[in-house]
Amino acid sequence: MADLIKLALDVGFSHAAALDPSTLRALPEVRDMCAANRCQRYGHSWSCPPACGSLEETAAAMARYDGGVLVQTTAQMADDFDVETITQAQKLHKERFFTLTRQVRLLVPDCLPLTAGTCTLCRTCTYPDKPCRFPAKMLSSMEAYGLLVSQVCQDAGLPYYYGPGTLTYSSCILIKEGDMP
Ligand code: SF4
Repeated sequence: MADLIKLALDVGFSHAAALDPSTLRALPEVRDMCAANRCQRYGHSWSCPPACGSLEETAAAMARYDGGVLVQTTAQMADDFDVETITQAQKLHKERFFTLTRQVRLLVPDCLPLTAGTCTLCRTCTYPDKPCRFPAKMLSSMEAYGLLVSQVCQDAGLPYYYGPGTLTYSSCILIKEGDMP
């Protein structure tokens, strides 16, 4: 796992730590938050609920793994309304995670990356009219799988909140340790 953490830090993430998939819980409360649709992606993407699977299915998918890495991008905002920093940090985190996922998939093709936010590979998602354009590259979010991100951070030994004025995006990649070269 040290190799994955080093890879993540080399990609540019602010923080990275080993994650134990046995601690992950797919929670109905998180799915309820998705269903409230504040992000307006519920029912609008193959990567999001309900298309990404029931909680039973996402829990079963995560239970296939016995190792993983949690990665974070932390930014310092000028104030609570610093939209520019929020937007840049989100974009940077997604770029870093896309790069890390591409590299980890070369090492461990059967891994499960869970990003922050909806899949943004396509300008417009094909859901529900046509199949996903890139099912092998599509990225679901930690929340879509029912994970309470603050709890996952705590269980992995990383802060969820780095103090006043900071903003942190978190994502993870699950692997089977025996698949690591
Ligand atoms: S890859 Fe494209 S079609 Fe598939 S979930 Fe992502 S945005 Fe939608």
